[in-house]
Amino acid sequence: MISCAICDRSEGEMIWSDNIFRVVLLDHQDYRGYCRVELIDHKKEMTDLNEALRSKLMTCVFKVEEILKVIFKPEKINLASLGNKTPHIHWHVIPRFKEDPHFPNSHWGEKLREGLHQAISVEEKKELIRLLNQSLSQ
Ligand SMILES: [Zn+2]
Repeated sequence: MISCAICDRSEGEMIWSDNIFRVVLLDHQDYRGYCRVELIDHKKEMTDLNEALRSKLMTCVFKVEEILKVIFKPEKINLASLGNKTPHIHWHVIPRFKEDPHFPNSHWGEKLREGLHQAISVEEKKELIRLLNQSLSQ
């Protein structure tokens, strides 16, 4: 058995799931609302999925993006799928703010300042889960 951080569920809090995908909230105070959309099955590339599943996954990613825009009003949302270290399909949905430590660089890039280190509130998290349920559980 290979060890995989996503199969092992080693990071973040699962805030929505069906039997195909899950949405995980990463506890990141500089990128408030930072979520990851993870395929539950261990598959490596988007092209390992059939077209219908690919399309479903991207719809899920875009819905998460929309919800994060509404709640956190970021300057920009970054979507990223790398998987070099963890070759298990997952999409990062990263709200970016002018005052975040790396903006306008990639959040994996050079740090330019200290962030605000502001945790999301209980109300924001509740609203995030409510909107995910409303738009994804159909
Ligand atoms: Zn995996």
